[in-house]
Formats: sequence, C-alpha cells, structure tokens
Amino acid sequence: MIYEINETHDPSLKSWVESANDPNTDFPIQNLPFCMFWPGQQSESPRLGMAIGDQIFDLYTAISSGLFGADFDEIAQEMELCDLSFLTEVYGPEVLADIRRAAFDVLREGAPDDLVRDAKKCLVAAKGIDPELPFEIGDYTDFYCSIYHATNVGSMFRPDDPLLPNYKYVPIGYHGRASSILVSGTDIKRPHGQNRSDAEAPPVFIPCKNLDYEMEVGFFVGGGNEQGTAIPIEEAEQHIFGLCLVNDWSARDVQAWEYQPLGPFLAKNFATTISPFVVTMEALAPFRTQAFERDAGDPEPLEYLADEENEKLGGIDINLEVFIQTQKMRDENIAPHLLSKSNMKDLYWTIAQMLTHHASNGCNLQTGDLIATGTISGKHKGERGSMLELSWRGTEPIELPNGETRRFLEDGDEIIMKGYCEREGFRRIGFGECRGRILPAD
Ligand code: MN
Repeated sequence: MIYEINETHDPSLKSWVESANDPNTDFPIQNLPFCMFWPGQQSESPRLGMAIGDQIFDLYTAISSGLFGADFDEIAQEMELCDLSFLTEVYGPEVLADIRRAAFDVLREGAPDDLVRDAKKCLVAAKGIDPELPFEIGDYTDFYCSIYHATNVGSMFRPDDPLLPNYKYVPIGYHGRASSILVSGTDIKRPHGQNRSDAEAPPVFIPCKNLDYEMEVGFFVGGGNEQGTAIPIEEAEQHIFGLCLVNDWSARDVQAWEYQPLGPFLAKNFATTISPFVVTMEALAPFRTQAFERDAGDPEPLEYLADEENEKLGGIDINLEVFIQTQKMRDENIAPHLLSKSNMKDLYWTIAQMLTHHASNGCNLQTGDLIATGTISGKHKGERGSMLELSWRGTEPIELPNGETRRFLEDGDEIIMKGYCEREGFRRIGFGECRGRILPAD
C-alpha cells in the first residue's frame, strides 16, 4: 500500500511559522519529518521533535501539555519515555501518522488562536539544538541497488564483464554495523587498516589512504516481522516508516584487500553518518514514480519480488547532491563545491523489493532497523555517488575551485549531502543535511 495524495500535500497550504513558507526551505508544512533532539544542556534525554521551517517543534512538550487533545492522553502519561522507537514499537507506526496529522492541524495557517499561542511555546530554533539519532538502530543493512554504481565499480576490476551474473536477480547487500552509525555533524576519524597496495610485499597496517564517501538513502523499518515469516511485496511499504540520507564512509584500500571472499567488513564499519530527520512515506507520496525500467533483454524480477503497484509507483524521485569543503576552502572562505548530482529513481531495485528480499528467508526485521540503498549513481559522469567513481579509482583527480585536487578524501575535508523532491503542482520538500568532517588518524 503506497500513500495516496491527500489534503496535507496541497501546495497552497501555508504555516504561521513564517520560515516554513520560504520556497527554498526543506521543511514546509507539507513535510513535517520526525527527529530526536537534545533540547539543552540540562536535559537528560533527547526529545521527540519535528522540523518546520528553521524551527524544531517540540512534540514532547506539545503532547505532554495536552496541545493535541484527549486522543493523546494515554501517550502523554508516558511521554517521559517516548521516542520514535518506543512509540512505533508499542503503539504502532499509525500513532506517529496521527501525531504528524495533529501537528499539521496546529501548525497550519488558520489554526485556532489559542492553539497557535500554546504551540509557539513548543518551537525552538533548529540552529541552537543538537540532533540525536532518530531511532535506536538495532541492525543496519546496506544494499548495492544502483546498477550504474555496480557497473562503474565492476568495470574498474573486470572491464569486460562488469556486472556479476546475479545482479539482475538478487538485490545484493551486506550486513553493516549499527553501533558505529552517527548523526550528521559528528567528526569522522580516519581509520587504520591493512593496506596491500604493493602486490609484491606483505600488507602493512597504516592509516587508510583511500578514504571515500558513498551517497545513499536509508529507510527505517516501522513494524517488523516474526522470525520465520516473510513480508509479501504487496505489504512491504507498510513496514517502511520513512527515509533519511546516508553516507557510508568507505576505506577503499582496506576494502580492496579484505573483501574476498566474504565482502565488506572493516572498510565500512568504522562509521556511517545519517541525516537527523526522518521524512515520512506520507510526505513522499507526491514524488513516487515507476520502478526502474529494465532493458528488454533483462530478466523479470522473480515472483516474490514482483508486484504491479510496486512497478508503477515503487520508485521515489529524490534529487541527491554531494558537496565538499576542504580545510583550505574553509580558510579561504570558499563555499562548498558540488561534486555530483544523482537521483534515487535510478535504482535498479525499489525499497519494497529490498525489504521483501531481506525478510524472504524468514529473517526478522525490527522497528528501527536501518536499511540503506547502496551508493546512488546515475548514467552520466556528473552523477557518480562516490569519489572512487568520480576520480576513477584515483586515476582522474577531481579539480576543486581553488586549484586543489582530490583522488580521495584528505584530513579536514567535509562532505555535505543534501536531498530534495520537486514536482510540478506540489510543494518542494527536503531532507536537510548529512555532513561529516575527516579528522586525522590517531
Ligand atoms: Mn554502501
């Protein structure tokens, strides 16, 4: 079941929060993504919130003060404990949809004066707060669903046969590590690892030389499945809570040496950064699009991965941008430089197919699990979602506006990822930022 367009998507709707009506904001009233945030230094636990314009709407205060009315009395009693994981697990994802709808009614232009007066007390400037991870993430899986990325990387190693024979049948993935997932804005220390760039000599244990980013989108599981049961593709979207941006930091030199035969390990699990806001599937409804159009010679998906609605609307049109700002650029006051643009609709597999495939052997997914798409690259050169591809394994250095060049990331480099949806007849919505800066190795 994919959300239908409803009155919350009406592009003419405005909020009394002025900054939410700025045409360039990521967070108009049509978006209202969830987050967890630290309201101040005296606070002992993060709070449930929601982005609106340049403000965070403190849902903890709103619900516990009764702003949303008697329907939320039971939750208000337990608000002390309430985070996204708790609410989704205990009350079900539907309750978050109800909270979002209640916030929508209070934040919209024309809401009753007394509600507006009380709601104003729940707003805090987004600039002044620290975000927290939106969910308690129990497990993290990363897929490999961009055929352009897979073809680029494959052709560096196997020019004649870049795509492995399983690619068009199996959504390829690996189990990542949840403990090292970080929220946007956290610094990343350059990892150590085994490097065997000299094929004639034994490997050496040194700071990573070929540090990279990967532009990805992730989705959170909202409501899992019992171990031993599968999730039919027709029901997959009901288990998907919402989306965020993901940077799957990658140590390419470590990866090249360690990956055979079991795939990525220490090259990936030192850090993964995500954006703090979870854009809901309801907010994304206007931007749904058809699944990847397979070439005439490609196999059809196997039956458990095939569904008519998924084929028609399983894709999502999200514009993705990656920027870099080096230490020197910061010193010289040069704005971040755009490295690439790509789009999530170019993925070979949809998020419903990823989720269904993941659970197809009876593997139990759980609320708060993060499932990422893999690097999202497009067909063209400017659409490559990693530095490995942009610099073609370091052989074609990238030129920056101040004359610096990059093959891979240097200490002091900051990577900033952005995502937004635009469609004629609808309000633009965005994801905010996913940023991280590289610190030197120990
Ligand atoms: Mn990845």
